[in-house]
Amino acid sequence: MNETNRWRPGEIVPQSGIYACDCGREHLWSKSTDVRGHHFPPLPYDCSGKAWTLRTQAHPDDD
Ligand SMILES: [Zn+2]
Repeated sequence: MNETNRWRPGEIVPQSGIYACDCGREHLWSKSTDVRGHHFPPLPYDCSGKAWTLRTQAHPDDD
């Protein structure tokens, strides 16, 4: 696993897309709008993971 592709809650969101936690239970969080200045949310209450990983990139040319 590449640690640079994992973000902990509170870190800056690098790009829009669908993120999944790393606990293996497919907790998803999507960010489809402007990500500037946004931070990752806390992981779900019943999630045992520690970080978010990028699952699906949003279209890079949708502006
Ligand atoms: Zn989870």
